[in-house]
Amino acid sequence: MFNKQSMEANNLSEFNGVLDAIQDSNNISATLAGDTGQKIEVEENKIEVVRGVPFDLNVFAQEVYDKSHYKNKGHADNAVNMNAYDIAVNCSRQIVYKLLKTPVPSFADKWLPIVFRAQLGKACHDFVQLQSDQFTEAEVSLKIPSIRLSVRLDNLIGYNVLVEIKSCTYSDYQRIIRNQKPRRDDFMQSMVYKHVLENHLAEAKDPTIKVRSNKPALDEYKIDTIQFIYLAHDITASDVEDVSEALMLIAKIKKQLKSKNNPFFFMTSLVVDTNAFDQAPFMNFIKGKIESINSHFEARKLPAADDEYIVKSKCFFCRYYSVCDIPVKRR
Ligand code: SF4
Repeated sequence: MFNKQSMEANNLSEFNGVLDAIQDSNNISATLAGDTGQKIEVEENKIEVVRGVPFDLNVFAQEVYDKSHYKNKGHADNAVNMNAYDIAVNCSRQIVYKLLKTPVPSFADKWLPIVFRAQLGKACHDFVQLQSDQFTEAEVSLKIPSIRLSVRLDNLIGYNVLVEIKSCTYSDYQRIIRNQKPRRDDFMQSMVYKHVLENHLAEAKDPTIKVRSNKPALDEYKIDTIQFIYLAHDITASDVEDVSEALMLIAKIKKQLKSKNNPFFFMTSLVVDTNAFDQAPFMNFIKGKIESINSHFEARKLPAADDEYIVKSKCFFCRYYSVCDIPVKRR
């Protein structure tokens, strides 16, 4: 339970002190609900763990697996378009399999923490959008049936600024801060949105085409600025070995950001000026991939193994792995 008085007494920057407190693990104690100031010491040898507890984690894992199967299958059964992630990241054959509604034994996510991370990502996203009035448009759907593309961008500010909210692991966050560059996949997704806004706006605004969120409000966009808002939300098993290493990593990132007086040390932003680099290679990739997928789909033909948009690094988590005859071994 929150103690309102202590919340008001603390300004946000003092939240950073929480880290220091956690790092001194010898002082760990529990505070009573209602925060009377009275402390109870946790004596580990007096706590007995009972096996066979009512909430069974193995059952839960199966529940998550089953739910992800039905959710993903529902999406697959109704898939008629590519999305931004398809164009920016996914394997061309995987996308054609999806558009052809190819059946597979299971649509469940191959790695269950992905489901948990997706929920964290959504919460991060809502946190920024619900707290801010700085955006002029939010959750803008761009549905372009003529090229079988349906995407949804996060935010716009005026006619020229695209803002994408991205959640990431601490290790990605550390790299982003160190390199001062957005992740490649995030950048490519934002370029897909820019491409659609600048080349397919009339179709995106067509009132006869139904979308689930907002249509673009303006009659012209010329995106010259892309801002990425990154929120660090978790540490993966591959990032660290144990909790103490996780805490050290967090402390290192904080130091790296020189964020002593920055209340949001878990949140940063990068701004890209799209006129400062040659956009042609990115736009050619996006247009070329959309055209290639559409031509393969219309011919009911899978992209060959040497197709330039095949992405073998995606095989490990690919749900079409069991039906794909491209010989890629899972690690
Ligand atoms: S298994 Fe690999 S090559 Fe085949 S569709 Fe999936 S990602 Fe593409």
